[in-house]
Amino acid sequence: MKWYNLSTILLQGAIYTALTAFSAGGPKLPHPTQRAAVRTIIIDPGHGGFDTGTKGLQIAEKEVALDVGMKLGKLIEETWPDVKVVYTRTTDVMPGGGSTIASGLNYRAELANKSRGDIFIALHCDNDGHPAGPFTVRRIVGHRYAGKGKRRRRVPIYESYTGHHTRKGTETFIWKADRAGFKGSAINEIGEGEVTDSAGETESDSLAFDMNSPEARIRAQLYEKKYFANSALFATLVEDEFSKAGRASEGVFQRDAGIRVLQATGMPSVLIEMGFLSNVEEEQYLISEDGQNEIARNIMDALRRYKATLESHATN
Ligand SMILES: [Zn+2]
Repeated sequence: MKWYNLSTILLQGAIYTALTAFSAGGPKLPHPTQRAAVRTIIIDPGHGGFDTGTKGLQIAEKEVALDVGMKLGKLIEETWPDVKVVYTRTTDVMPGGGSTIASGLNYRAELANKSRGDIFIALHCDNDGHPAGPFTVRRIVGHRYAGKGKRRRRVPIYESYTGHHTRKGTETFIWKADRAGFKGSAINEIGEGEVTDSAGETESDSLAFDMNSPEARIRAQLYEKKYFANSALFATLVEDEFSKAGRASEGVFQRDAGIRVLQATGMPSVLIEMGFLSNVEEEQYLISEDGQNEIARNIMDALRRYKATLESHATN
């Protein structure tokens, strides 16, 4: 209940911001009959090929991401025959066929930009920092003295116990822009070094994109001005749909590490962490047809509300 209330407040803020950002263009507002708000949707199933992403006991992140991505694409095509769906991959490969994660990220961003996407949706699964299955945790329960005379010293006494994977739920990330411009203030911030997904993504991501190039700076400015509010709106709607479906929604987060692919794409963009593969219950959900269909439906419903919000404003 608490989450539902929070996401309602967030949602109102996000819609307000998206609407004000939309009208900030003044007289250059697109004519509603000329241009639908969402004509091309980029679906980016995370990882692929040699890059498995995080692993559950039975399934890898790259498989869940692809399964849900294909289901979501099918829903979009059935619902809106006029909307074009572009997938960064439709099979178990690294997009672009390269041999590094960085090459894949570059390919994803370039494909999205070349396809002139209106929204970019990256699909991922999370882990809690420990491999799936039982893991051993060691903690200090006290101290004892060892050695004699001058060599006598205090040493810790350890106890080992079996850890449990308790973290679960969904999170949606957007590129971290200047939050002063965002009036729906309830978005959480995550700084460098707090990346929750597989750590490798951060490094490969910095290799893939030169953030100091003039092009990157222009893209960052564009993102703040044009895409941040709509990214926040869509992310909030996604988490709201997850909440309504009974998932544990952790909310919307801004992040600037590990998700530079979002900023490299010249369009509103989100990265959805669909659940924790390190959690056995969530893995069962993420592996199941019902679970995957529900996630795809939730994202589809968020897309429907997103499109309707932007288009109703354009008509007014
Ligand atoms: Zn991932």
